[in-house]
Amino acid sequence: MTKPFNSRVLLIYTGGTIGMNRNPVTGTLEPFDFRHLISHVPEIGQFDIDISACCFNPPIDSSDMTPEHWTRLVEIISAHYEDCDGFVVLHGTDTMAYTASALSYLLENLGKPVIFTGSQLPVGQLRTDGRENLITSIEIAAARDAQGHALVPEVGIYFNGRLLRGNRTTKQSADEFNAFESFNYPHLADAGVNIVYHRERMLQPDLSRSMTPHFKLDSRVVIFSLFPGVNETLIRHILANPQLKAIVMRTFGSGNAPRQPWLLEALKEGAEQGKVVVNISQCLQGQVEMGRYDTGFHLQEARVVCGYDGTVESAVTKLMYLMGRYDDPDRVRLEMTRSLRGEITLCE
Ligand code: ASP
Repeated sequence: MTKPFNSRVLLIYTGGTIGMNRNPVTGTLEPFDFRHLISHVPEIGQFDIDISACCFNPPIDSSDMTPEHWTRLVEIISAHYEDCDGFVVLHGTDTMAYTASALSYLLENLGKPVIFTGSQLPVGQLRTDGRENLITSIEIAAARDAQGHALVPEVGIYFNGRLLRGNRTTKQSADEFNAFESFNYPHLADAGVNIVYHRERMLQPDLSRSMTPHFKLDSRVVIFSLFPGVNETLIRHILANPQLKAIVMRTFGSGNAPRQPWLLEALKEGAEQGKVVVNISQCLQGQVEMGRYDTGFHLQEARVVCGYDGTVESAVTKLMYLMGRYDDPDRVRLEMTRSLRGEITLCE
């Protein structure tokens, strides 16, 4: 059922550790070219899959990723969308969850797999995790059912034996091969002896409609974390900035904030000026419920939007996407409370 025969996969190499080499002078890891990377994974040639490739030139460390790179990826994927069955994006792990989240919004009604992967050790090193990550990602990107429909019609991150929804994923470890986790949504697939696809957890595209790419992002957003002792002058300064259009506010526990009157006042003033504030918990697991404690309840009066069980990466990229599409802050607030690509869990 899931044999990848005759599938066509486009490999997009953006950079990251997987393709890096150690600089003999400084000792630091630097991106290397794509041919060098592929020469370390000759097994790719054994696939009965038609693989083509394109690269960022030069490849970049993912700390240098920008929204312009995200739109470049959307351009590449939409230009090859009709001729390919799936896409594998090789990307540094540091900001992979941001790029995967952004692409989940920018590729509306996606019907084909866009699988992000990378590695913790360069592919040229003996103990690399890059080889398995790359090979399995290609297999997932090529997998189709008997009707020819993609088994994973969404943006995912494949790493260390698990396929995770891109916009649910966070980098959890700088050292372990198990670099990513999706704390609030189960795995989309698990790769052991076989790759087990959990199709009931996948998004269902509308096959009667085509995929719609979007290219506009508005990055006038900041992420700030609350902490005991948060300073009034600094917060007011950020909120008063006329350039600022939205904030991802990282709150305590189930979405709670200090009850100091100045904070509520500053947030209310921000909302009156059209600034959208989204409440995302500092906890990795669980969800924001602003009605649970008095310290969260008050935030609703300041029009702070509930971020439910979404990740920071998803919230910030969703805001950029929505602000690129809608000028009206009320529309942005409304869309933030809807699940557009399976990024939040809404209780019916
Ligand atoms: N600094 C690297 C990057 O994100 C780390 C990695 O690829 O794992 O590009």
